[in-house]
Amino acid sequence: MFDSIGVVGAGQMGHGIAHVSALAGSEVRILDISQDALDQGVVEIENSLQKQVERGTISDTAKDEALKRIETGTDYAIFAECDMVIEAAVENEDVKRAIFKKTIEHLKPEALLSSNTSSISITRLAANTDRPDRFCGCHFMNPVPKMRLVELIRGLATSEQTFDAFTAYAEALGKTVAVSEDFPGFIVNRILLPMVNEAIYTLYEGVGSVTAIDTAMRLGTNHPLGPLQLADFIGLDTCLAILHVLHGDLADSKYRPCPLLVKYVEAGWLGVKTGRGFYDYSADEPRPTR
Ligand code: NAD
Repeated sequence: MFDSIGVVGAGQMGHGIAHVSALAGSEVRILDISQDALDQGVVEIENSLQKQVERGTISDTAKDEALKRIETGTDYAIFAECDMVIEAAVENEDVKRAIFKKTIEHLKPEALLSSNTSSISITRLAANTDRPDRFCGCHFMNPVPKMRLVELIRGLATSEQTFDAFTAYAEALGKTVAVSEDFPGFIVNRILLPMVNEAIYTLYEGVGSVTAIDTAMRLGTNHPLGPLQLADFIGLDTCLAILHVLHGDLADSKYRPCPLLVKYVEAGWLGVKTGRGFYDYSADEPRPTR
């Protein structure tokens, strides 16, 4: 386990990673470009820890101690003492590269680096840092406190020592590790996103309504969420970004993003995080938007 962890991005994944790491005993430093996102992230962590207290899975003291271990900031100098920094900002390779460039200026030489990317090459991200051997892909699932899987991805240069440190970290968080080779989308999103994209094509071509598609997949295949609701939950911008990586890096037309998904993202209808996607989340019960 790492004594001190840095997290870049305070969105749904970043605050989730901060939550579980602080609860497991690490000092956590969260950085974001947006102070609002940092403030909102801390509120989300507090709410989520409170729910765990109410369910009896953690004590009030554990919640308070976890919160005390978390600090936030917009200056990369907050990572100076970190043993590992994990990037969980938007799914955009240029943004991620710029983040790593700034991170390494403040990092201890022996500190490890990671990305929570859903699809982008770990080898490429690592090659653009000063420590490709100390870089490992660590892909958490959403919502982080609930989901039991962590996908670990070795870049071409990742050392065994680095990989072992990330395995120990995931296990200390109570997660189960699945190891994936470094190919676009790894295992989970290589399989999941084509299904989500096909569900959107099914809607686009009028084969079924939002309700019909999600009901069919929930009850017909025993999935806990229908694929359109799952897409809203992941974030439609993130879904589109992952499909662009699969389409571009695997150069296969079967990954072509559905034009309807592109249109939703262009409209700023990104799903749960913006209150509207394939469903409208303004009322208690989500209502289909088409
Ligand atoms: P999000 O939109 O909820 O949050 C992204 C955060 O990054 C925002 O707070 C934003 O302000 C911040 N950010 C943007 N640019 C930044 C920069 N230059 N420096 C610092 N912070 C910056 O996104 P998310 O769903 O948390 O996804 C984050 C990452 O995790 C992506 O790479 C995504 O592919 C991956 N991921 C997402 C899911 C999911 O289900 N949403 C699951 C696993 C992995």
